[in-house]
Amino acid sequence: MNLSEINNILEGLGISKENPGSSTGKEFFGAGPKIVSHTPINGQELASVTQTTREEYEAIMAKSDEAFKVWRTMPAPKRGEIVRQYGNKLRENKDLLGRLVSLEMGKSLQEGWGEVQEMIDICDFAVGLSRQLYGLTMHSERPSHRMYEQWHPMGTVGIISAFNFPVAVWCWNAAIAWVCGDVCVWKPSEKVPLCGIACQNIFNEVLEENNLPEGISCLVNGGVEVGEWMTQDKRMPLISATGSIRMGKIVGQAVAARLGKTILELGGNNAIIISEKADIESTLVGAVFGAVGTAGQRCTSTRRLIIHESQYDNVIAALKKAYGQLRIGNPLDMNNHVGPLIDTLAVEQYEKALAAIKEQGGTMIVEGEVLQGDEYSSGCYVKPCIAEVENHYAIVQHETFAPILYVMKYKDLDEAIALQNGVPQGLSSAIMTTDMRESELFLSAAGSDCGIANVNIGTSGAEIGGAFGGEKETGGGRESGSDAWKAYMRRQTNTINYSKEVPLAQGIKFDL
Ligand code: NAD
Repeated sequence: MNLSEINNILEGLGISKENPGSSTGKEFFGAGPKIVSHTPINGQELASVTQTTREEYEAIMAKSDEAFKVWRTMPAPKRGEIVRQYGNKLRENKDLLGRLVSLEMGKSLQEGWGEVQEMIDICDFAVGLSRQLYGLTMHSERPSHRMYEQWHPMGTVGIISAFNFPVAVWCWNAAIAWVCGDVCVWKPSEKVPLCGIACQNIFNEVLEENNLPEGISCLVNGGVEVGEWMTQDKRMPLISATGSIRMGKIVGQAVAARLGKTILELGGNNAIIISEKADIESTLVGAVFGAVGTAGQRCTSTRRLIIHESQYDNVIAALKKAYGQLRIGNPLDMNNHVGPLIDTLAVEQYEKALAAIKEQGGTMIVEGEVLQGDEYSSGCYVKPCIAEVENHYAIVQHETFAPILYVMKYKDLDEAIALQNGVPQGLSSAIMTTDMRESELFLSAAGSDCGIANVNIGTSGAEIGGAFGGEKETGGGRESGSDAWKAYMRRQTNTINYSKEVPLAQGIKFDL
């Protein structure tokens, strides 16, 4: 990677060295202090954006409110057409935007492109959905009455996103919210602000080409303070927040205090059960990709392997071999499997976790370390590692956002399911087995307690067609496919009397 390559990526997406960080669409504002973005690949400064000021925030909220009044009355399929056009712009920009994701966040180029593909996929899904925002009709208990329900737009949806999916998570929310008739204000993670500018620039082209009001897609930038303006703002009936459990507990309480709604997409502690009936070869691909892909910085990353005692030695030997072959380095180089962590703070967390594993009684099977040398000059590269642990250790109960894989043994499947469920989080889970009884038990009401439960594929790499999210401390929210759209709308029950009589429900008599 050299400077001219970086400049080509930034320029191609309309990003300057210094960018105003607040936008209503057509207009950008930039009076606030700078947030400087560095690539974790080599620590180089990329560009800066300004943090949103309170005045800018108020101007944005006023525009978003105005835009909502227009957008909510546009027929849903027409809104779908706008999302279709956005999806097409993303197709045109897939290469550059994928490169920017990789550059700013540090995930592999394949995964950067994959993230943009997810944006395209959710746009396609949303276009179809725009003709399928179905409500039920019910039979009234009263004669000559009709009952049905409608789904109406809610207003401004506040989207707060995490650093690890700097573009896709926003689009999962925004594409669905838009066809539902909502407008969006997005605060990307302060660790990846340039990705937000790029997505907004691409949306602006669609806005202009269709002569739509600004305010349908707004951008704010900043950290906790700007996030708190959103969570405390009654003008945002829904806050969709993706990030750590620590953040989700604060955001959930702040929004609940004003009786607003939330979609919370928080941390995971995802396990794969490897049964005695597992096909070990295919198990390994899912397990290793799950554990080291995005350098262990996916909410669905595989954190724990719960291995049947009869397979344990085999699996450990195969894992050691696979980890020995991992290439760690510049994620833009497609020969590498593992890129950097997001920043040196994340490296500190990794080191603390390694110390805690040893203190709490764990044994390293593949040692971890912070990598040194020219190729690793940003100080953000760490070696994926494996530790043999017990599930109850405090460090195992906690999500460390790094490529640390815990392994443990089990004797029977009930014990394995209890271990899998025995953590505070409930996002993704999987079983590797060729035995139908085992897989059905795992998927039953007495099985996995997670929002996602897979058979013979790993814990990460969900498709947009399903509802995405998890239980317990993962927050309970659902985004993306299935009927997740319902969270972005308000339901209205309508009862219509087409007779001259006024019979009351439950047969109540009230004569005047
Ligand atoms: P983080 O919690 O540090 O930050 C996430 C976002 O919340 C950022 O935009 C941040 O500015 C904002 N924020 C932080 N405190 C806030 C507050 N008090 N009020 C309002 N906003 C606030 O998380 P991160 O380090 O960026 O991301 C990693 C975490 O995200 C991991 O725990 C990961 O599992 C989780 N994650 C979950 C999902 C999911 O769908 N379940 C997806 C991606 C990431």
